[in-house]
Amino acid sequence: MSATAMARSIDANVTEVDAPQELTDGFHLVIDALKLNDINTIYGVPGIPITDLGRLAQAAGMRVISFRHEQSAGYAASVAGYLTKKPGICLTVSAPGFLNGLTALANATTNCWPMILISGSSEREIVDLQQGDYEEMDQLAIAKPLCKAAFRVLHAQDIGIGVARAIRAAVSGRPGGVYLDLPAKLFSQVMDAEAGRKSLVKVIDPAPAQIPAPSAVQRALDVLKTAKRPLIILGKGAAYAQADEEIRTLIEKSGIPFLPMSMAKGLLPDTHPQCAGAARSLVLKESDVVMLIGARLNWLLSHGKGKTWGDAPKKFIQIDIEPKEMDSNVEIAAPLVGDVGSCVAALIQGMGDKWPAPPADWINTVKAKREENVAKMAPRLMNNRSPMDFHGALGALRTVVKERPDAILVNEGANTLDLARGVIDMYQPRKRLDVGTWGVMGIGMGFSIAAAIETGKPVLAVVGDSAFGFSGMEVETICRYNLPVCIVVFNNNGIYRGTDVNPAGTDPATTVFVKDARYDRMMEAFGGVGVNATTPDELKRAVDQAMDSGRPTLINAVIDPAAGSESGRIGNLNPQSVLTKKKPTQ
Ligand code: ADP
Ligand code: MG
Repeated sequence: MSATAMARSIDANVTEVDAPQELTDGFHLVIDALKLNDINTIYGVPGIPITDLGRLAQAAGMRVISFRHEQSAGYAASVAGYLTKKPGICLTVSAPGFLNGLTALANATTNCWPMILISGSSEREIVDLQQGDYEEMDQLAIAKPLCKAAFRVLHAQDIGIGVARAIRAAVSGRPGGVYLDLPAKLFSQVMDAEAGRKSLVKVIDPAPAQIPAPSAVQRALDVLKTAKRPLIILGKGAAYAQADEEIRTLIEKSGIPFLPMSMAKGLLPDTHPQCAGAARSLVLKESDVVMLIGARLNWLLSHGKGKTWGDAPKKFIQIDIEPKEMDSNVEIAAPLVGDVGSCVAALIQGMGDKWPAPPADWINTVKAKREENVAKMAPRLMNNRSPMDFHGALGALRTVVKERPDAILVNEGANTLDLARGVIDMYQPRKRLDVGTWGVMGIGMGFSIAAAIETGKPVLAVVGDSAFGFSGMEVETICRYNLPVCIVVFNNNGIYRGTDVNPAGTDPATTVFVKDARYDRMMEAFGGVGVNATTPDELKRAVDQAMDSGRPTLINAVIDPAAGSESGRIGNLNPQSVLTKKKPTQ
């Protein structure tokens, strides 16, 4: 039954036999507008004024996933956008709920993922005169600088246009977050059902292909041809584009080593002979021509300059849908503006049949370094120590993912993130979901829930104990919807390490948590499976069992509290006082 038809039976006032016309209202128009555009899932937290919107959406056949906190719902929506190329929807109440969701909206925009935050809001007349309404806040003004676009709808007949604009803004060009402000009064506005139907808009070609100029393609090929030590860097924009076949063809046809950024791992398998992931430092330093595909030269790539990039002169080719991204950090010799699929296809065509392979000494140097680093790492991954160190535990999980390449890996933490990124090989596109451009903590449970809902695949969440704490209550959500999510909490009793001591006495040190906490028991509280694992073998057995059964599971993986390092791999970004000669733990 369409949501519009539902209006008659739900609203007692219009079910009168002698009602002269079929009516609809704001609630139903929002639902109909989303469904018309093939948006069938909402992530949110119910409350005033959107409780009925969630109810009616569910009754109209939409999937409505209710969370315990809007931030997790928002993260879920954002990663749904990344996985599907359709805007993920997060639905929240006014002021505080809106603000909780806003972090995720800003994060989605930073990650270039399409998402729409829909929040109910208070009455304009009262908000604008600042007369102190229930949850009064000028939400539109606050959202604007933090997202790609923001709209407010005041009249029911404009809902169709409002939703259409939000969808197009979210997915076209560089994707991003969009805020849609829906004041409480809008939902109960009634209008003629037929006029309502006509007011809805199905967005045609929401993310049009952006074809690169032939001269730009030729320029890129000319630069690439001069390379002695070429490198291709794949970013999450490349993964988002779902141009997997084109990217594989370009890489294999060119013979150029490729370096996947964190979430581009698996676009081609990390075990691919051209993958330079295990020779990262070498290829960044030594390369002379670098082609970026959907990857930005931001902090994650040391801004394209400095020690990381070495002294060899570089030329950059950059494929990006956003023209303003070019020259943001260093000069781009060959900007290729367009969508990844179109740009890569044009390059392949321009390469013709006789594209020369890169010089053999470069390929051999990269290969030798990769093999050396892989061999160095291998014994550390096989240790069966108890309590576990990071490498022992990750060695076990690495095997799990190798044996289950279609599972989705969610990863957050400091050491847990940095080390897992290097250790766990990925084999398929868009299977690794992590903290993204901001390195934000708290994405774990929201991402896991959306990954399970959107893909139907089993999810393995590998999270630090601190990271888990930001969204831990969502284990109830996972149990409630009975999702195939296995969470492994790397429990080292604290942030970075669990060994810090407060030199002044009394309170615990700022970075430590309750010693020997049992996170597994949180899962048991909601009917899920909890396991305490103290060795890599135990850990592997427990994860396998969870993934086989599909039951919500949380494994408390006991990690040596002394094993981690401050800020994981990005200690250089963490200022430390020069006045303290010794750190408290030393
Ligand atoms: P990573 O962190 O993995 O290096 P980034 O998030 O820094 O990746 O970069 C992703 C880039 O991809 C952004 O600059 C974004 O504009 C771009 N992008 C996103 N979608 C597309 C697309 N379909 N085609 C081309 N570029 C895209
Ligand atoms: Mg920790």
